[in-house]
Amino acid sequence: MSSPSVTSKLPQVGTTIFTVMSSLAAELGAVNLGQGFPDFPMSEELVSLVDQAMHDGFNQYAHMNGLASLREVLAEKIAGLYGTTVSPDTQITITPGGTYAIYTALTTVLRPGDEVIVFEPAYDSYIPNVEINGAIPVRIDLRFPDYRIDWDEVRRRLTSRTRMIMLNSPHNPTGSILRPEDIRQLQSIVEGTEILIHSDEVYEHLIFDGVPHASILRYPDLLERSFVSFSFGKVYHCTGWKLGYSVSSPALMREFRKVHQFNCFSCHTPSQVALAKYLQDKETYLSLGAFLQQKRDYFGQLMSATKFTPLPSYGSYFQLYRYDRISDEPDKDFTIRITKEYGVASIPVSAFYQSGKDDHVVRFCFAKKAETLEKAAERLIKI
Ligand code: PMP
Ligand code: GLN
Repeated sequence: MSSPSVTSKLPQVGTTIFTVMSSLAAELGAVNLGQGFPDFPMSEELVSLVDQAMHDGFNQYAHMNGLASLREVLAEKIAGLYGTTVSPDTQITITPGGTYAIYTALTTVLRPGDEVIVFEPAYDSYIPNVEINGAIPVRIDLRFPDYRIDWDEVRRRLTSRTRMIMLNSPHNPTGSILRPEDIRQLQSIVEGTEILIHSDEVYEHLIFDGVPHASILRYPDLLERSFVSFSFGKVYHCTGWKLGYSVSSPALMREFRKVHQFNCFSCHTPSQVALAKYLQDKETYLSLGAFLQQKRDYFGQLMSATKFTPLPSYGSYFQLYRYDRISDEPDKDFTIRITKEYGVASIPVSAFYQSGKDDHVVRFCFAKKAETLEKAAERLIKI
């Protein structure tokens, strides 16, 4: 009996580095500062609200665009934070996580042969999401070591086929952020063109030192041509909930929903009921930056006793470190060896480059309990 053959649509893709490093950490009992997720508990109140919603009978399909009361509170939040009025009816769709919002946005608009500018290091789903739609990633390195965008390079790489520019701020894995001058450059590049934007803002509240988040939602001229993706998992320490949302123009969102309705259709109802209530208290998201900044600073203080050299982290829950005072091994070998020999897992930054570019930098996630960070540092000091 012969089985049908399958030609991979993603021949270059293996298992994501996050799963590889988390599995290794679990197998070896290592402290896991690799994959980005908090190890401290989420809000008891939010858990109780979900429980309550289930007991109150909110257990059937929600509206395919997302629970209306949740979209309304999100529109209020956007108006309050970014000064832009968006319609909850036509511009916001609740999705099963940020990853899905990104994939759906790209699938909604990309056609074979379209070119998409992707800055590397890039979150690992972007390029496969471009390629599975037959589009062509145009990779541009962020400038090392500050990981800012070289806009002159962007201008040089534009062609008549450029369809989208992908942004991510605060940035995973580097912790860099977009500044108002970046937005001005972007505006001048896209004005009068057919270029769309995808802006991944899942870390919107994880921004430090009082710097305002340069959200695309602040700029109605850019929002007209953008999909902006968010994640409740990142905001409320519940990455396992896989719930997020997409914000766009009414015209783009109409098309997004055509794809969404035949994929997931609608998202987990009780969580949406709970979030609609919980988000009414603005402190639940406004307090996040200071909370994570304190963790960044504590981790930095602990790590100052090691031979690792920090690069600045302005946002996200990640901090990059160079290890050139320790070794000249490739970063993948280094992270595996450190996990095995010293019991601390991290992520090699070369995994975020399709070319495997290796600047001998590793990423640590500091969204962890103080004791986890202390345990990791105790071990890393021995290197
Ligand atoms: N984008 C970036 C940059 C991320 O780090 C993550 C977190 N994994 C996501 C998107 C996806 O978020 P979610 O877990 O809600 O799918
Ligand atoms: N965003 C998380 C990270 O960067 C992980 C998400 C995932 O495992 N896909 O570590």
